[in-house]
Amino acid sequence: MTVAALLDKLEGVRGCGSGRWRARCPVCESHKAVLALTETAEGTVLLHCFRNGCAVADIAAAVGVDLADLFPPHVDGVHASKPIRRRFNAVQVLGAINLELLEVLLIAGAILQRGSITLTEHERLRLAVSRVSVAEGASRG
Ligand SMILES: [Zn+2]
Repeated sequence: MTVAALLDKLEGVRGCGSGRWRARCPVCESHKAVLALTETAEGTVLLHCFRNGCAVADIAAAVGVDLADLFPPHVDGVHASKPIRRRFNAVQVLGAINLELLEVLLIAGAILQRGSITLTEHERLRLAVSRVSVAEGASRG
């Protein structure tokens, strides 16, 4: 799925520079464009709701998109919840860590704007830490 197909399903979409958009969040149904979308160079779409920090799985479900569609096929292994069996090279591991850092940056921006952190955001930060830990393990083979 392309980012364009996802943007088609959202309301109040506006561009914010190369590979970045804002739209209304389909979960908390804010009238403001509180949902930030970022498309990475690898084709992964990062989503973050600046209003409530709505879970990405809920946002994907609200627009009828499979969570896996937000990731390009070649990095599925790093993001899927199933155990990793094969060894990843340094580029793949750094790519995964880079994605998690982008997510942390998005959440930091939301916290700065709102002045508080939501439970969902805190859980997402914990997930980022565990994914980086998994990535480190995967790079060891
Ligand atoms: Zn929301």
